[in-house]
Amino acid sequence: MYKGIVGFIRNIYGGRENIPLHEPCFSGREKKYVSDTIDTSFVSSVGEYVNRFERDTAAFCGAKFAVATVNGTAALHIALKLSGTKANDEVLTQPLTFVATANAISYTGALPVFIDVDRDTLGLSSEKLADFLKANAVLRKGGAFNRKTGRRISACVPMHTFGHPCRIDEIAAVCRKYKIALVEDAAESIGSLYKGKHTGLFSKVGILSFNGNKIITTGGGGMIITDDANFAKKAKHITTTAKIPHKWEYVHDETGYNYRLPNLNAALGCAQLEQLDGFLRKKRKLAAAYAEYFKGAGIPFVLEPEHARSNYWLNAILLKNRAERNKFLLYSNSNGVMTRPAWRLMNKLKMYRSCQCADLENSNWLEDRIVNIPSSVKK
Ligand SMILES: *Cc1c(COP(=O)(O)O)cnc(C)c1O
Repeated sequence: MYKGIVGFIRNIYGGRENIPLHEPCFSGREKKYVSDTIDTSFVSSVGEYVNRFERDTAAFCGAKFAVATVNGTAALHIALKLSGTKANDEVLTQPLTFVATANAISYTGALPVFIDVDRDTLGLSSEKLADFLKANAVLRKGGAFNRKTGRRISACVPMHTFGHPCRIDEIAAVCRKYKIALVEDAAESIGSLYKGKHTGLFSKVGILSFNGNKIITTGGGGMIITDDANFAKKAKHITTTAKIPHKWEYVHDETGYNYRLPNLNAALGCAQLEQLDGFLRKKRKLAAAYAEYFKGAGIPFVLEPEHARSNYWLNAILLKNRAERNKFLLYSNSNGVMTRPAWRLMNKLKMYRSCQCADLENSNWLEDRIVNIPSSVKK
């Protein structure tokens, strides 16, 4: 059976010997735009490509504003900080995520609290979130407080796993009820819609990533997206060392960050963004081919959830149990087809082991079964 799967995947990718999990696709104006930045000498944090990349990304998502950053983790750090998260606050998130989500929370000095995901969306469960808050939160002046620890619960960071939107409207409603800031980690979900709206725009702020393994890349890069003009202004200021614009004077009015995306990287991003609609069409076609194959093979393939239109960033199958998962990982990786398990759950990593956890039944169940399979856009 595993031989059949590996053969099917190899065939999809034209018989290639070694098939990566996700490689970037540069088939547009990448070289031209990157050369421009060298020709004009604007390779660093000032330049027209950064502004254009922000405008074009905002337009693509349907956001009013976008602020480009050096990576998605930095975008998330600043989004949390500007949403009011401070040292010793608690931030609710899911354990099934890339470590950047928990790290960005830590950078603010806050403590992550892990709440379970839903099995169908792979993202934060609105029901489990509501259950946790009902059992643990009290609303006081200044917001929601954890009655066991006494700490303020300042924010919630759901993540759209592998590009599949979670129940973000329900999560937003729970957060509103408890006056908790919602910061969407849409790092994996550019191009994914929920009920017709782009992910990352269901609250004041969301973030995107343009790391090398995402659908489109700037080499390294990220974006804060928001409809709030004041938030965008603050985000740009604090990510550019909080320098007050002036022709020659260096005056900074707070401790800022050197988080601005260089023009060189933005040039690559502009070229990539021009191809995103085409990439999304190909990703969805690939997912449809996988869905049909795995239906025939009797193996569950992760489909876009109800009300969602997914970018299918990383395709995933669910094997019977941890032993079967490990067997398949060994077989496929030994045969040139790169596959990988889901990330080790955050609450099992040594730096987050002592964090509070709600019941994590679904996350544990999924961790045992998820295998990501090659998902690159075919050239
Ligand atoms: C990629 C990613 C990020 C951001 O990562 P960077 O490499 O810093 O751009 C954040 N969260 C999730 C879930 C991601 O997959």
